[in-house]
Amino acid sequence: MAEASNFIEQIVVEDLSNGKVGAVQTRFPPEPNGYLHIGHAKSMFVNFGTAEKFGGKCNLFFDDTNPSKEKTEFVDAIRADIRWLGYSWEREVYASDFFDRIYEYAERLVKEGKAFVCDLSADEIRATRGTLTEPGVESPYRKRSAEENLQLFREMKAGKFADGEKCLRAKIDMSSPNVNLRDPVIYRILRATHHRTGDKWCVYPMYDFAHPICDYLQGVTHSLCTLEFEDHRPLYDWVGVSLGFTPKPRQIEFARLNLTNLVMSKRYLKKLVEDGAVHGWDDPRMPTLAGLRNRGIPAAAIRDFCERAGVAKANSECEISYFEAVVRDYLNAHAPRAMAVVDPLKLTISNYEGTEEVAFDINQTDPDAGTRKIAFGKTLYIERSDFSLDPPPKYFRGKIGGYMRLKNAYIVRCDEAVVNENGEVTEVKCTYFPESRSGDDHSGIKAKGVVHWVNADTAVDTEIRQYEHLLRDADYAGQDFTERLNLESEHIIYGKAEPLLATAGDGTAFQLMRTGYYKKCCENGKLVLSEIVSLKDNFNK
Ligand code: ATP
Ligand code: MG
Repeated sequence: MAEASNFIEQIVVEDLSNGKVGAVQTRFPPEPNGYLHIGHAKSMFVNFGTAEKFGGKCNLFFDDTNPSKEKTEFVDAIRADIRWLGYSWEREVYASDFFDRIYEYAERLVKEGKAFVCDLSADEIRATRGTLTEPGVESPYRKRSAEENLQLFREMKAGKFADGEKCLRAKIDMSSPNVNLRDPVIYRILRATHHRTGDKWCVYPMYDFAHPICDYLQGVTHSLCTLEFEDHRPLYDWVGVSLGFTPKPRQIEFARLNLTNLVMSKRYLKKLVEDGAVHGWDDPRMPTLAGLRNRGIPAAAIRDFCERAGVAKANSECEISYFEAVVRDYLNAHAPRAMAVVDPLKLTISNYEGTEEVAFDINQTDPDAGTRKIAFGKTLYIERSDFSLDPPPKYFRGKIGGYMRLKNAYIVRCDEAVVNENGEVTEVKCTYFPESRSGDDHSGIKAKGVVHWVNADTAVDTEIRQYEHLLRDADYAGQDFTERLNLESEHIIYGKAEPLLATAGDGTAFQLMRTGYYKKCCENGKLVLSEIVSLKDNFNK
């Protein structure tokens, strides 16, 4: 048997070793009311990952007990995102598949005197629930006979009452220290068209009642969920025991994944989309899996991150820079290198004529990746920020009279800057030193700065997109989400790229040397390079 690497796996190993369960069955339980985000990747890692590791199975379980918010569009997006992440499910199951069975179980509780129909309004129920220090007050309807309850419950189902006029409550204990056990509502009346069952039902089970039943009917052995359900576990167990489930699924809670500088709750993400603060659910700044995919982040890097972040019993917040460091590590090992310049500045080599090819490692971390050749010439573009008319101390890139190396090519000296009427530099004129060629430098000239370049004869115009985080830094942490929102987090800059970038496959990730990791794509015939993650590692390991 595989070795346990976290507390959930330890429980699984125990249960398998002592024969309590024959084979592991888990489920990943999204509610189809939005797109999956990176927090769900963690849940998938736990649910699919644990089953996979111990030779078990994991179902895709759509928790669709809330008809007013659920849509088929979300079901389709969720499926696509799970596949993209590299997981496959055993069965695709919906809570709504079990609506008849759940209703039958509810009738059984009613017949056995374990549930009653209550006429209190939602507000009245809330008001009589008590607090953490005070017990709740029993409903005046709690003493209804089983026969009366059964008749009323059937009438609820038949549509005799208005929405919210009555509900079904479990009869447990109004003075329980656990508020969830104070006669919780388990069925409500709601006239809403369900995305799968249409108008068949006007009563819907509550999550806490439906979930243990659906787990049991699927044969789930370990129901893995996040910590906010810890207080609900006694109710989960009450349902299982009251309905005589054997073997009873076991609920185990783990900590949610929280990342700094990101909003993770679907409710907020939905608001960003609806308010037009982002381009859509798949905006590259969104923490949705669709957004991360569109950003160019490889699925393997997300899985790797979930594994490295670990499975814990206590909530904490993970630095976004840690996630970025994992992505960077992955791309450093896998992304080919290329050159593009942001905000290009023309550079002319006065004493150079003709053209020649210079060699670059495709990926210097991968000896098998090989090299390729790039055409060098008289007229190039460098980045505007790599030349300064008024250089600060220790500026080793382009400055008048200074020497710098053009990456993998020659050392040049900047002789003259052409300046337009606005005082902007429009061109830099240089002299190159033929003996300084990279790999065969016998010029004796020292050049501390190295700048990258593209050849003006072959360069392609490109749009370069750079991003900041959607939420401002931790300094703003205490503030409301809308205050922290960084609306100016997308920057569009003009650039020039080497021709390889125009011909590479759409979606390919490159390391643009000295700039960062970028995804290439083509939009309306135009080359777009959009930032995946910056080059600099500012995470302190
Ligand atoms: P949200 O608050 O973002 O809407 P949710 O918990 O309502 O999230 P569900 O669709 O109900 O979203 O979640 C499916 C599963 O994913 C649940 O088991 C939930 O606990 C888990 N999950 C959701 N967010 C996270 C997270 N940040 N970290 C780990 N697991 C998560
Ligand atoms: Mg939810």
